[in-house]
Amino acid sequence: MRNQFDLIIVGGGIMAASLAYNLRKDGFTGSICIFEKDSTYEYSSTPRSEGGIRQTFSTEINIKMSQYSYQVYKKFEEEMAMDGEPCHIDFHQNGYLYLLNDKSLPIFKEIMKIQKSLGVRADLMNQHETKYFFPELNVEDLAGSVFDPDAGNADPYSVLQGYLKKIKSMGVSFIHGEVETILTETQKVTGIKMKTGESYHAPIVVNAAGAWSGELSKKIGIEIPVKPVRRQLFSIDTTEKFKNTIPFTFDPTGLHFRGEGSKIVVGWAKDVSYGYDFKLEKSFFEEEIWPVLAERCPNFEQLKVERGWAGLYDYNPIDHNAIIGGHPALKGYYIISGFSGHGFQHAPAAGKGLSELIHLGKFETIDMSPLSVERFAANKPVLETAVY
Ligand SMILES: Cc1cc2nc3c(=O)[nH]c(=O)nc-3n(C[C@H](O)[C@H](O)[C@H](O)COP(=O)(O)OP(=O)(O)OC[C@H]3O[C@@H](n4cnc5c(N)ncnc54)[C@H](O)[C@@H]3O)c2cc1C
Repeated sequence: MRNQFDLIIVGGGIMAASLAYNLRKDGFTGSICIFEKDSTYEYSSTPRSEGGIRQTFSTEINIKMSQYSYQVYKKFEEEMAMDGEPCHIDFHQNGYLYLLNDKSLPIFKEIMKIQKSLGVRADLMNQHETKYFFPELNVEDLAGSVFDPDAGNADPYSVLQGYLKKIKSMGVSFIHGEVETILTETQKVTGIKMKTGESYHAPIVVNAAGAWSGELSKKIGIEIPVKPVRRQLFSIDTTEKFKNTIPFTFDPTGLHFRGEGSKIVVGWAKDVSYGYDFKLEKSFFEEEIWPVLAERCPNFEQLKVERGWAGLYDYNPIDHNAIIGGHPALKGYYIISGFSGHGFQHAPAAGKGLSELIHLGKFETIDMSPLSVERFAANKPVLETAVY
């Protein structure tokens, strides 16, 4: 087996796949090899994601990345088609609905200024309009809401598989196994070493290891602020059905729920404790989620939890934003991580941006330099407040 490549990507989730796809599309003809430790993707974040896609962010860079990615997702089925077979990704645009109280309304009004200036179609509704729009809601404590009609969700596993099939057809190689560390020599990368001891060489190594990327980087003495944070999702069924399909609805507490066929998926990004923890706690649902749901909507009073799962955010505790770019201390070392819960929807743009930086030496489509790793040392965080 060959052990020399032009570019190595550690991690084979959606970031790696989008990067490899865009490199090929942008004309990178060198050899690319993706190393993935979890051949069934059982614990990878991408298939455990909720697949939410929206444009209602608080920073210009994230709105632009959303807008680019939205266009990609709209035509993904054709773009990833293989032998004339479309790649179905179940993209439903049921919208995002943010329920607002007296405290959050002025904050959203402020964020909407930047959204509007960039052409985001989100609209404000008062309490009465919110009730009319979603009749089952208890709106007594609400000052209004914001609805993003272009938003929705797609199936992350199908998206990942679509990318993977496509890049394999474009000559991207895969090796299954765990990368122990990145190899370096006089301030440049030279390759990677596997847990089994073999080495593979390349002048470019991209850290796309998601929630594990901070740990991997630390092994070569380069700290990046990416930590694993558990998020739990529950699929429920209610006795009392809802009239309409439920959009991705955010309660002022931060809890969210959305329709998924005849079921409802519920989650709450409540705690931030670090670790590779995949435990699903039913008590979290019963003691914390359910009372808020039942208060918001009588339909939730009688429900059944059908299943649930937990996955990891690649969480950046500093500004809750991605890190995209090369590392100034190590030539050839690139990072694409830290998406803090919005990586699925930003993967098309992130892969495109990093592809341009590697292949052309600069960002062309969207200037992603605000997301460089240098921002932390320069004390220039790009704080994203709209993370859930
Ligand atoms: C419950 C949940 C809900 C979410 N909801 C949304 C949402 O609604 N919208 C949204 O945009 N985002 C959402 N996200 C976030 C999104 O899933 C992630 O940001 C995104 O999937 C990150 O992609 P990735 O490729 O970086 O990570 P991953 O998919 O985790 O891929 C990284 C891969 O690296 C591999 N790896 C790690 N270390 C090594 C190593 N040493 N050697 C070899 N392989 C290695 C892992 O096995 C993994 O497969 C959610 C995440 C979770 C957990």
